[in-house]
Amino acid sequence: MFVCKDPSGCASKSRNWGATPQQIAGFAQIQHAWRSVTFELDPHVVKRQRERGISRADIRHVLLNGRVLEFHHQKGLYRRARIMGRLPSGRPLHVIVEWGNNTYRVITAMDPASRPWQWNEDYTQRLHWCVKNHSSED
Ligand SMILES: [Zn+2]
Repeated sequence: MFVCKDPSGCASKSRNWGATPQQIAGFAQIQHAWRSVTFELDPHVVKRQRERGISRADIRHVLLNGRVLEFHHQKGLYRRARIMGRLPSGRPLHVIVEWGNNTYRVITAMDPASRPWQWNEDYTQRLHWCVKNHSSED
């Protein structure tokens, strides 16, 4: 059984994120507008793409077709959301994206199945930020 090594750290990170039903509903319009948007890739996500075999098309697929899980509460002008989707291959992919002031930036992308303890069963809820055998946390 999984035992969290950093319960207070995971709880405090979890408090930064959330979504009201109104925010979830309003996101459909935002996501639709993204069809004509070019997303900038943060150097962090480029590194992760190489490590994890994730293409730009995979990320775009999730951004346009995935389901928004929650939003970061403390990003000022910028909005930040976590989106979960499945690639045509069936592989689940989690993407964090930030937007505002005509800027659209992908922060990171990961396969939640590679860290199952961090998620609930269908990957719709992030439960932990702590790591087991990895050197980085996102
Ligand atoms: Zn934890």
